[in-house]
Amino acid sequence: MSCFMCKGDLENKNTTFMVELDNCIIIIIKNVPSQVCKQCGEVSYSNEVAKQLERLVNSVRNAITEITVINYTEKVA
Ligand SMILES: [Zn+2]
Repeated sequence: MSCFMCKGDLENKNTTFMVELDNCIIIIIKNVPSQVCKQCGEVSYSNEVAKQLERLVNSVRNAITEITVINYTEKVA
């Protein structure tokens, strides 16, 4: 597999995913399995990981007020 931006080589790495929601809530998810381009640094996720990130975000978004840091491996309901 190669980078969709520059066709560079991808390497498997754990990265930190960060999302800012409309109401100034920031969710940081650490240790996310991802592919990082060696050339341009573009980060991509597999479908499975993207779905899990969505689940994690949805599970914490109503429970927090400002900022939260969780691990990718966190158990979600
Ligand atoms: Zn690239």
